[in-house]
Amino acid sequence: MNAVDATEHYETSARDPAPALLTVILDTNPHAWALLEDSLPLSKAIANILVFLNAHLACNYANEVAVVASHSQKAAWLYPRENPATKTYQDADGDVSMNGSSADNNNTTEGPGQVNKYRPFRIVEEQVTHNLRELMASTSGADVKATNSTMMAGALTLALSHINRRSIAWAEAHGADTAAETSGGGPSSGGHASGTDTAEGLQSRILIISVSGASDSAHQYIPIMNSIFACQRLHIPIDVCKLSGDAVFLQQASDATKGVYMSLTEPRGLLQYLMMAFLPDQRSRRHLVLPTRVDVDFRAACFCHRRVVDIGFVCSICLSIFCEPPENGNCLTCGTNLEMGDYGAKPAVVARKRKKKKRVNGPSGTATPTPTPTPGP
Ligand SMILES: [Zn+2]
Ligand SMILES: [Zn+2]
Repeated sequence: MNAVDATEHYETSARDPAPALLTVILDTNPHAWALLEDSLPLSKAIANILVFLNAHLACNYANEVAVVASHSQKAAWLYPRENPATKTYQDADGDVSMNGSSADNNNTTEGPGQVNKYRPFRIVEEQVTHNLRELMASTSGADVKATNSTMMAGALTLALSHINRRSIAWAEAHGADTAAETSGGGPSSGGHASGTDTAEGLQSRILIISVSGASDSAHQYIPIMNSIFACQRLHIPIDVCKLSGDAVFLQQASDATKGVYMSLTEPRGLLQYLMMAFLPDQRSRRHLVLPTRVDVDFRAACFCHRRVVDIGFVCSICLSIFCEPPENGNCLTCGTNLEMGDYGAKPAVVARKRKKKKRVNGPSGTATPTPTPTPGP
């Protein structure tokens, strides 16, 4: 299909809703899933998520999905990924290779009952389960022991780069001039075309299915916040479905990007929550009252020890956060010498003047009355 044909095609169907790209970041932290084993095992969660992905694909023939695993020692693509049958998916630098042209990946084995399944459903299901199995098999006991956190920052970055690539590719293929500005990004994006009847770009959103706690992700505070600000600028909402624990930064992510944050009290109802709260795309959400969270935890992590702090010190030049004033007043990030004033100096103690106690019923009856308000006449 060349560019001219595509433009003409979309001119004739300009009222068609633009497709949506849903990127799911699945927290596959083995520690957290082990704790959830009784209520929601990972296999059941995957089955629920696959149904949800199929529902998204069924909403529009052009809708796309992508799945990233935020594992304990790395972030990896579950779908789409190039040539899932081969095991050489890491290049010389150790980067995980992936391929956006997912429809070409058809070299997996077809089961006997699979032939009647809608092809996009089958491809997503096969690749996600295959790649997840491979990821789990490649995780050694030493990897699990080494850390109990999850690579959320890396997964967010992978998701953002994929969204950016697909948005540009979609805009090029369909000749939507405004597409790159509304969702494909660039610092000049003003969002002026959103909400109008003109051809919209690819509608992208990110859904994080999180199981890890907040304390584990404090050391990734800076890259996570950078990803959040990138999403904010590109108008990509970050939805968060929290199955266990409570993550400070993810609350801020959904709050800053106008996404949905839900902390599930009953993880077994995952599919119900996914279908009701997270399936509507941005266009539908304009007409819905979304389950929003009012009590967002806005705490930050200090740049010096990666501790979550209630009260901190902020560099006036680079806005770095510290839990205590830096040594000699030199900012650890930008090196600026900050005028600390006399912070930390003990205040001079001045002896308080002792007031003379006034006796009311003393020997001298001329004592001044106590300053209590007397009722007026
Ligand atoms: Zn600190
Ligand atoms: Zn600074």
